Amino acid sequence: MRKVFCVGELLIDFVAEKQGNDLSKATEFTKKAGGAPANVACAISKLGGKGVFIGCVGEDPFGQFLLDTLRKEGVDISLAQRSKIFTTLAFVSLAEDGERDFVFSRGADKELVYDPTLRKGFNGNLLHLGAATALLGGSLEMAYGKYLFDGLTKEMFISFDPNFRGDLWKDNEPQFIKKCMPFVEKSHLCKFSLEEAQLLSGKKDLNEACDFLHEVGTKIIAITLGKEGTLVSANGQKQIVPSIKVAPVDTTGAGDAFIGCLLQQIADLGNFNRVLEDFDLLTKMVEMANKAGAITTTGYGAISALPTKVQLEA
Ligand code: ATP
Repeated sequence: MRKVFCVGELLIDFVAEKQGNDLSKATEFTKKAGGAPANVACAISKLGGKGVFIGCVGEDPFGQFLLDTLRKEGVDISLAQRSKIFTTLAFVSLAEDGERDFVFSRGADKELVYDPTLRKGFNGNLLHLGAATALLGGSLEMAYGKYLFDGLTKEMFISFDPNFRGDLWKDNEPQFIKKCMPFVEKSHLCKFSLEEAQLLSGKKDLNEACDFLHEVGTKIIAITLGKEGTLVSANGQKQIVPSIKVAPVDTTGAGDAFIGCLLQQIADLGNFNRVLEDFDLLTKMVEMANKAGAITTTGYGAISALPTKVQLEA
């Protein structure tokens, strides 16, 4: 079975228990494993695939908690690194006015060191690059670029999710866009939210946004549109693949479930070219990935709400 190597951050989200308080007033927090690329690795493993996580956490109890969480979900954590620097922490609350209040304490995630020996294992597998913190500097950013290069030379199927976080790129969006472009250029598949597609392309219209982003280089574009489903664009064809009707309680992690499920199906295919050439096959896979996204919205939290293969098939 082909492996999906997921590179990026794994961190603790401390979510304020009582929403409606900004962080200065919040008193109780729930500790949750967070980090989009780590969620994607979990999504793949829960679906019976081989998700491998490449990222760095601290040599502290929080780092241990995070790795234990991934291990329990069946993710291969043998390539995860530990640092003497504390595990990255994010604190989040919804203030009275509905605005997100956010404090980010960046630690070990930025310490990921590039490991050239991984190149050997990359051969013919899949690489997923999730960029929430990876483009914020540190040795992680360097490693990230080098893994992209290794992925290309080892003929991997490469997927990129910019995971734009407004809180982290306040007043610095042009820099974010510039840093994303080499990944959009070289990846076979890019997964964007509506906001990301518009931000990176500078186009409001999604047809124009897709055309622009294809011209940059990516062959397949999936723009996730919440309950509306996903706009998929490849080979000169575009289609909105509708999602299924559910009663959502928490949409956290729906995008990660979506891309995880899509990558798992591509990994199962074996021959990557088929998905690049066959639009009908691609839309069928997106239909299934939409279901994974939808199911995730029906449970609280990200990792715990990701569907298993049995749940998805049911
Ligand atoms: P994230 O913030 O987790 O990165 P995202 O913005 O990338 O999420 P969404 O568009 O919220 O992703 O969701 C991903 C997919 O999950 C959608 O394309 C859709 O198929 C499915 N989905 C999300 N919300 C709903 C919903 N309310 N009802 C049905 N399906 C949904």
